[in-house]
Amino acid sequence: GFLAVRYYDWIVHHGRRTPDKVALIDLASERRFTYSQLDARVSRLASFLRHTLKVSRGDRVAVLALNTTDTLEVQFACGRLGAVFVPLNTRLTVPELQFITADCAPKVMIHDTDLAETALSVAKLCNIATSLLLGPGGSYEAGIAAAKPLDRAEEVTLDDISTIMYTSGTTGHPKGATITHGMTFWNCVNLGGPACIGPSSVLLTVLPLFHTGGLNCYTNPVLHAGGTVMIMRAFDPGTALGLINDPAQGINVFFGVPAIYQFMAQHPAFATTDLSRLIVGGVGGAPMPVPLLKVWEARGVALQQGYGMTETSPAVLVLDREDAARKAGSAGKPVLHTEVRIVRPDGTDADVGELGELWVKGPNITPGYWNRPEANKTSFTDGWLHTGDATRVDEEGFYYIVDRWKDMYISGGENVYPAEVENVLHQLAAIAEAAVIGIPDPQWGEVGLAIVAMKPGQKLTEAEVLAHCAANLARFKCPRQIRFVDALPRNATGKIHKPTLRKEFSVASEVDKKAA
Ligand code: ATP
Ligand code: MG
Repeated sequence: GFLAVRYYDWIVHHGRRTPDKVALIDLASERRFTYSQLDARVSRLASFLRHTLKVSRGDRVAVLALNTTDTLEVQFACGRLGAVFVPLNTRLTVPELQFITADCAPKVMIHDTDLAETALSVAKLCNIATSLLLGPGGSYEAGIAAAKPLDRAEEVTLDDISTIMYTSGTTGHPKGATITHGMTFWNCVNLGGPACIGPSSVLLTVLPLFHTGGLNCYTNPVLHAGGTVMIMRAFDPGTALGLINDPAQGINVFFGVPAIYQFMAQHPAFATTDLSRLIVGGVGGAPMPVPLLKVWEARGVALQQGYGMTETSPAVLVLDREDAARKAGSAGKPVLHTEVRIVRPDGTDADVGELGELWVKGPNITPGYWNRPEANKTSFTDGWLHTGDATRVDEEGFYYIVDRWKDMYISGGENVYPAEVENVLHQLAAIAEAAVIGIPDPQWGEVGLAIVAMKPGQKLTEAEVLAHCAANLARFKCPRQIRFVDALPRNATGKIHKPTLRKEFSVASEVDKKAA
């Protein structure tokens, strides 16, 4: 049993090996927990869940909270009980959350004071009998304080489900990816090893813990390695830069989606922040504009792009630091224990340089979606997960994620990948955000519509933007129209939500028709 414990419960291990090392820092509440303190809290929380709330093996435990170290305690306590941790997206409305909790039927709902109204409405609608309130004076702290240490941890295997993690909902309804203990473990190995994540790693986590980026890049790998994780309640660019700048914090690992790096680069403090301590600056989750990589490179930071998805726990491709500048724009090469293929629509392997769909196989890949027999049938072939992402590989074996297949549109018989057009728009330094969608056109089938938001105080005319596109893109790729907006709609992961844009600009693209 002991080895099996260590596969999922690194906190027990580090609690013995480095008891006084700081494991977690909760910036909002100014609490910090050493590994032995964290181990003791997880043990008592597990005991409280088992004995008082009657949570047993296989039961789901949902958390609805802005980032807090408590969420990580719930993850590890569920592990000790063989229960299933379900982190919920705090940006969702009551009906959206109701869809998810009806899907996974949690036994307990753990929630923030700020989100109490939402949480209790959802609990009532879905007959979740028990809810725990986080924060000072809440039932969560009281439960931990009153409980004894856990009498006995469940024996779990690497194949047991640890988590149901809902996808970002960028393309439709979120799907519950079942995450096993093994998937998380292998991600720690795949991602942590090459990044030299270790006991001296100090990570600032700004992405939400209810998505795989926040939870697994690099929060879980750093805890697995016995390092220190600082949790920011909600991302704020000025605060993040201030913390990175402060030598006393010693932050040397950071991860963000492209929007995070964009907001930091736009902040007045960016130019003077000391970024020299950052060993890892990871970026992934959405197409990363090369001009933004260059902005960070000019400040001495070689952002390492990576590619992954909720279903792959998430790392699939990572670009090494040494290659980051030379191969800017590539998402790198496959991680150690993961196989990838680029596949043509007929199922054969694409040649070098040829665009195809990325398929992924390995111990970090989900065994399937919760309650989605249809998606489980269509998403896998012989254990290969179809990612839905258009990808190509170069002669040196570096992979390029071009865009989602479903966001591609066809103009005059030619395929257009919006990410490529967006990259060209981002070359205009006055543009803060850009998105391109295909809209119906009587002559060409579809043409591009670009929606852009300017940086504060900057201005460009439609003609100027169109002229820049015409100078840098083949004719069929050039958007026909530019629309200016204050900000683009984004989901909680910071990804541009194209279904909203399609709806807003009242165009029914092929994708929406298919999804309907
Ligand atoms: P949903 O599946 O619910 O529509 P989602 O796909 O956005 O939402 P996630 O699992 O959070 O949910 O994101 C995975 C997706 O993010 C990938 O399939 C890919 O489209 C995109 N992505 C991740 N990394 C990169 C990257 N480096 N470059 C381009 N796209 C990326
Ligand atoms: Mg997806």
